[in-house]
Amino acid sequence: MKERLTGKNLEELQAVVAETGLPRFAASQIAQWLYVKRVDSIDAMTNISKAGREALKERYEAGVTKYSMSRTSADGTKKYLFPAGADIQEAGMVEAVMIPDGDRRTLCVSSQSGCRMGCRFCMTGRQGFHGNLAAADIISQFISIDEGADLTNAVFMGMGEPLDNYDNVSRAIEILTAPWGFAWSPKRITLSTIGVIPVLRRYMEESRCHLAVSLHTPFREERLSIMPVEKAYPIEDVVDLVRQYDFSGQRRVSFEYTMFAGFNDDKRHADALVRLLKGLECRVNLIRFHRIPDFPYTTSSDAVMDAFRDRLNRSGIVSTIRASRGEDIMAACGMLAGQHRQRERHSQ
Ligand code: SF4
Repeated sequence: MKERLTGKNLEELQAVVAETGLPRFAASQIAQWLYVKRVDSIDAMTNISKAGREALKERYEAGVTKYSMSRTSADGTKKYLFPAGADIQEAGMVEAVMIPDGDRRTLCVSSQSGCRMGCRFCMTGRQGFHGNLAAADIISQFISIDEGADLTNAVFMGMGEPLDNYDNVSRAIEILTAPWGFAWSPKRITLSTIGVIPVLRRYMEESRCHLAVSLHTPFREERLSIMPVEKAYPIEDVVDLVRQYDFSGQRRVSFEYTMFAGFNDDKRHADALVRLLKGLECRVNLIRFHRIPDFPYTTSSDAVMDAFRDRLNRSGIVSTIRASRGEDIMAACGMLAGQHRQRERHSQ
């Protein structure tokens, strides 16, 4: 199997050209073909000599993963399915969701096939873990979708826990933000995590991108009942770590709070959330829950969500209710890929 050029940073491309006998500046040219012009073949890199391209092709390919299917919602949200990556044993699909909103085109990116974190309310967690996406597979989600050239923002909020595959995710972020890559400002990117503390510390130190933390309840026992990660990394410790960083400038932190009727949506929860986040420059996003099988809770009503939001806002915690997008195409994390996987199993 040939090695993929997509997913390599400039330093690695310099090693590739040195080994292939090309001039050093060819590395920047290749980076430009891959990440600015977004070509999917070495033959298309026409400012590299024909002999040079032939030499490259002996060991390498451009290596962009193409999507295998897409679905568009009535509200314009578009979900793409990708094969789960060349390095992943069990065949499966990962999702990327493009969400248009005014002038913005945000891509919700997957970082793993399945997930090992086992959150009980999540379809991806239900599928178990199949493998880490390579940086090439993550970057391919940006390159190969129809709106690739028009994307304005990215959220690492798709399938998988990005901090459980941080080497590949940080490489993808490097490619997205480097001047030789996509040249995006870090403030166009948000990484969402359930709070894997040691890697979160690394992310906070190494990156200037935004952070979103999946919180879902301020109470330890309750959180433990729906999110096994709470055992190793309690949410209080996660918030303590977040407090060590500065969010008064361009960098932002938000907390994701999915609302489950009768579980985490009353005054007691709102007040505990205020105590937990007091003094931290942050925002709380309240999220409607898309019901999944074998999980006892449904989403909170609109009236309850409004009251919860208002209580947080009155206490000085900026809070908004996130609009649901793409419900008709099952845009909630993992749902379409999960359905695809089930169909494959049934047809085997
Ligand atoms: Fe994994 Fe995120 Fe789903 Fe939890 S919510 S199982 S971390 S994908």
